[in-house]
Amino acid sequence: MARAPSLFISHGSPMFAVEPGLLGPNLQHLGASLQDLTAIVVVSPHWQTPTLRVTATAHPATIHDFGGFPAPLYEIQYPASGAPVLASEVIDLLARAGLTATQDTQRGLDHGAWVPLRYLKPAADVPVLQVSLPRDLDAAGALALGQALVPLRDQGVLIIGSGSLTHNLYEFRSHIDDPQYAQAFADWVASTLAERDDQALVHYRTLAPHAVRAHPTEEHYLPLLVALGASTPDDTRTRVPGGMTYGVLSMDSFGFGLNVEDERKTA
Ligand code: ZN
Repeated sequence: MARAPSLFISHGSPMFAVEPGLLGPNLQHLGASLQDLTAIVVVSPHWQTPTLRVTATAHPATIHDFGGFPAPLYEIQYPASGAPVLASEVIDLLARAGLTATQDTQRGLDHGAWVPLRYLKPAADVPVLQVSLPRDLDAAGALALGQALVPLRDQGVLIIGSGSLTHNLYEFRSHIDDPQYAQAFADWVASTLAERDDQALVHYRTLAPHAVRAHPTEEHYLPLLVALGASTPDDTRTRVPGGMTYGVLSMDSFGFGLNVEDERKTA
């Protein structure tokens, strides 16, 4: 069985669902190259919980967890099936890493999961489950959460950390157009990943330019560390260009363990 990669995907604003921009087609090309996936595990900032949870829903509903957006966004469905058997395996894996998780048999897919998945796997033919983002998770904890999930990749399970490379919602809502600082932050992450200075990425808040402005709160950055944690030293690291949307939201995304052919498709 082919080893699946791990991905960090920027979902930016819910508008990404209907405005593909640069990232949408790049995710489509990337997804088309990932033919042998057995399941997808998503960690999204839109499912924060007091303690670690794993969805074990057989047929997860599409959750429209946002307000004030155009009506067509609320009609979109992503009818992937769930993966209850895999959910039990994930809970066991997490336990082996010292992380206690419980299953949720009701929860559907939040927009941090289904918005990027509609580009990556438009046929919705790969089962999907979500692992929650505990509210007290810090950067080191996010890396450790990803590390616990590494063995899944050998079963053909794609790991996705879904967030946003920059995510100042106040500036997004205020229509502030200041891409320079957001781009500086995005470029720092890309070069630090390429240099494989993973501890710098953990300590980004003091080391990266404009870190606190790019992420007033951490929940849209932490999924990058989950995806990074789910990589291994021999994995390639690939920037998937996403461009800048709404003046301040970098949509750049990253692949860990993509093969050369995938990289060519996303170049
Ligand atoms: Zn979001």
